[in-house]
Amino acid sequence: MTTQAHQLAVHVRGLRKRYGDVTAVDGIDLGIRQGEVFGLLGPNGAGKSTTVEILQGNRGRDDGEVSVLGSDPATGTRAWRSRVGIVWQDESAPAELTVRETVRHFARYYPKPRDPEEVMGLVGLEEKAASRVKALSGGQRRRLDVALGVIGGPELLLLDEPTTGFDPSARRQFWELIRKLADEGTTILLTTHYLEEAEALAHRLAVIAKGRVVAEGEPSALRERFGTEATVEWTEPDGTPREERTDTPTRTVAELMHRFDGEIPGLRVSRPTLEDVYLRLTGQEDAR
Ligand code: ADP
Repeated sequence: MTTQAHQLAVHVRGLRKRYGDVTAVDGIDLGIRQGEVFGLLGPNGAGKSTTVEILQGNRGRDDGEVSVLGSDPATGTRAWRSRVGIVWQDESAPAELTVRETVRHFARYYPKPRDPEEVMGLVGLEEKAASRVKALSGGQRRRLDVALGVIGGPELLLLDEPTTGFDPSARRQFWELIRKLADEGTTILLTTHYLEEAEALAHRLAVIAKGRVVAEGEPSALRERFGTEATVEWTEPDGTPREERTDTPTRTVAELMHRFDGEIPGLRVSRPTLEDVYLRLTGQEDAR
């Protein structure tokens, strides 16, 4: 790979993965820079989890080049693994231990762990330090999972749909946690099917659908690039509502003004939101 590839925390070229007849990942390219929060956004079944599992070194691939912190995950060493934080969703923490015991226990697996007390504070579990894991709420549980993901002091954190099933307030608290980690300099890859989550957290994002990247860039740039067409709506004299999609809404309005000789009944000019753009890109336009 090129020198530039080595400066990227994650570099993926032409990644492919099939499960029998199903092509889950169909030629994905990604470049994640050091220190950024990168969002992999797409509907269920788009290939997000498969991609993350390959980056973690937990799933093989059929084709493509993958470099994560300079190594191929397929042959990642133990030292490499300690630099990559993985947040499991499979209730891996022993239910009978307390939060503090669990975090301390996992710290022992790493050559240079972070301070367990500091990590419990970071994820907002300091008041729950003496509680048993089985007594935590769902949101607290996920924060413990993140604590276990960052206890080794990873340079890169991989989060697969971290807030699925959260209520809105737990989701916002979790976003604060991600921002804190990003502010500390951790590179973060986060998958989500929530557009608002990608928009709230990601510096850059890739939209994936059916195993392919259909758009990539900063959220604002995506909106501008794909959302230039405006919709002009008005009402005809006989009461029929009309709408026109156009790149030149001012011209359309000028023509209507001329035709109506003044005020245009029911006039509305709107630009697509990022959500409109996202639904169109991922072929879910009818979902609205
Ligand atoms: P996402 O995380 O975006 O929801 P996944 O990577 O989980 O997408 O799945 C992509 C596609 O691969 C889907 O069609 C899914 O059904 C299929 N798939 C995922 N994991 C497996 C598996 N272990 N065996 C067979 N098919 C799978």
